Amino acid sequence: MSRIYDRVALIGLGLIASSMAHAMRAGGLAGEIVGTARSAETRAVARELGFCDRVTETAAEAVRDADLVVLATPVGVMGAVAAEIAPHLKPGAVVTDVGSVKRAVIDAVGPELPDTVTFIPGHPLAGTEHSGPRSGFATLFRKRWTILLPPDDADETDVARLRALWEGMGAYVDYMAPDHHDLVLAVTSHAPHLIAYTMVGVADDLRRVTDSEVIKYSAAGFRDFTRIAASDPTMWRDVFLSNREATLEILGRFTEELFALQRAIRTGDGDHLHAYFTRTRAIRRGIIEAGQDTEAPDFGRGSAS
Ligand code: NAP
Repeated sequence: MSRIYDRVALIGLGLIASSMAHAMRAGGLAGEIVGTARSAETRAVARELGFCDRVTETAAEAVRDADLVVLATPVGVMGAVAAEIAPHLKPGAVVTDVGSVKRAVIDAVGPELPDTVTFIPGHPLAGTEHSGPRSGFATLFRKRWTILLPPDDADETDVARLRALWEGMGAYVDYMAPDHHDLVLAVTSHAPHLIAYTMVGVADDLRRVTDSEVIKYSAAGFRDFTRIAASDPTMWRDVFLSNREATLEILGRFTEELFALQRAIRTGDGDHLHAYFTRTRAIRRGIIEAGQDTEAPDFGRGSAS
């Protein structure tokens, strides 16, 4: 694989940025990888692990002369980070991000950046419940989709290079408009996370009654909820606060369907339940056929790392 950027700056050095660094290293995609994070502790861990060529104390230093700058912090601080780096960006540089929400990030980051750089928002649809600089690994993005959201006036060469970087890290790449992205992700990721958080919260309440039976007899369904509900609290707080409209829309629909199922159970309407579960089973089959999961009991997770 050949070099795509001479210098890449990573702002934030958690799961996503450290995985990008490992993957860029593995593919020889960047001449130099420079990184920075908010805390001295994270910067020290990054230096110890050595996945960046240089770790700087400030974001301003990190972006100096970078051809590509990746915002990989929680979405709630991306606007402030953009304001901090704006005066130090190299003219002609591309700025991208990996945030799980797109409209709010575009509204916060776009106005802070100078006209001399191009902002191409992005979102890798890959992650784990782990966070921080020790959690990254080179294959996180392999065979997973990354969504790019280039503005209409973006230079085609800039878009093609960023696409090539993600493909070099093993990802499939697709393009989407911001509002569409936020609605799709509200259905596929954000609402399911909220439901998992709720289910685990309910079980925790129940545990006080049943004295640890919830943990002891925890079956696969509940264990999967607990894995999702172990995701980073800061990241997910920001996701819900910045994708409010789409998440509320989907949760509204979810509540209606839940009430319909509740009614079917109360009235003994087995046909309704059976038809519903038959429809949902077909969706699972579709995901496996699309190569986005496996039939293995661990849902293919063991092969992800
Ligand atoms: P993470 O592991 O928690 O890492 C976040 C990083 O951002 C940390 O290094 C943190 O530094 C740094 N940071 C926070 N505030 C900062 C600031 N003001 N200036 C500089 N650095 C700052 O998070 P992650 O999972 O990599 O997520 C990063 C982004 O990717 C989020 O926007 C998230 O929505 C998106 N994303 C996440 C997933 C996932 O499953 N995790 C998947 C796709 C996209 P400290 O350690 O020093 O606090």
